[in-house]
Amino acid sequence: MPELPEVETIRRHLAPMMEGRELARLRIDDARWSVPIAPEEVAAAVEGRRIERLGRRGKYLELALKGEVHLMLHLRMTGTLLYDPEPDARYVRVAFELSDGHRVLFCDPRRFGTGELALGDEARDAFFAARLGVEPLGDEFTVDHLRTLARRSRAPIKAFLLDQTKIAGVGNIYADEALFRSRIHPLRRTSTLKAGQLEELRDAVVATLEKGIDHGGSTIDDFRHPDGISGSFQNEFLVHTRRGEACVRCGGEIVKFVAAGRGTYACERCQPRPRVRRHA
Ligand SMILES: [Zn+2]
Repeated sequence: MPELPEVETIRRHLAPMMEGRELARLRIDDARWSVPIAPEEVAAAVEGRRIERLGRRGKYLELALKGEVHLMLHLRMTGTLLYDPEPDARYVRVAFELSDGHRVLFCDPRRFGTGELALGDEARDAFFAARLGVEPLGDEFTVDHLRTLARRSRAPIKAFLLDQTKIAGVGNIYADEALFRSRIHPLRRTSTLKAGQLEELRDAVVATLEKGIDHGGSTIDDFRHPDGISGSFQNEFLVHTRRGEACVRCGGEIVKFVAAGRGTYACERCQPRPRVRRHA
C-alpha cells in the first residue's frame, strides 16, 4: 500500500505535467471510484477547469482546480497514476485528459482507490480534518504535539503510528523502520513512552519518511511511478521484510510478529519487548 513517500513521489512526478493545464475531460470507467457521487456529476464539476495545484495531505493527493473545486484521490492498496502509459495499460478505472493532449490514468487492480469531490476550500478542510491528524513533514509535528497525543493513548505504539487521525501518512513500512531507529518495541504501550523516546521517535519518523522520498518510495506490491520507473527504498529497509537476517546495529536476529493486525518486523534486542504485567 502506498504510504506518504510513495504518494509524495507520484505528486512530484505529476505536478509539473498537470499544474497549469486544463482538465479537459474526466472519464470514470468504474462508478465505485466516486461513490456516493455519480460519475457524471463529478465530471461536470471538474471538466474545463484549470488545475491550479497537485497537493498532498497524508496519503491523499489533492487536485485543486480553479474556483475552489477539489478532487481528493486515495490510492488505497494497489492504485497508481500513470502519465501517458502504453495503450495496453490494464486495470484503468479513471482517465484524466488534459488540455495539452496528454493524459493521466488511474490504474487499480483491486479497485479500493477513491476519488472524492469537495466544493469550496472549507469543504476540503473539513474533509481532511475529519480524517487526518498532523502532517509529519510539516512544522506542526513537534515533540510537544507528539507528547500530547501519546499521553492519551493506551494503544501499542505501532497501532498509534498507523492511526491516520493522529499522524497522517505513516503506514506499515515506515512505522517499522521508525520504531527500529528509535529502539522502541512495536507493542510498547504509547502512553508509557518517556520524553526522550518520543523525541527520538519524532526524529525517526521524519528521517524515515524523508529518506523514503529521497529514494523515490518503495517498490513492493504494485506501486509504480507515473513513468513506470521503480522506487528503491526497499533496498534500504533496516528491519521491514528482513525476518531472519542480522540486525545492522547489534547482529541479533530480526523477527516478525503481528502488531496492529499487520506483519511487523523488529530486533527484540535493540527494541526490548514490553513485560506483560500479571494481576495477582
Ligand atoms: Zn538489534
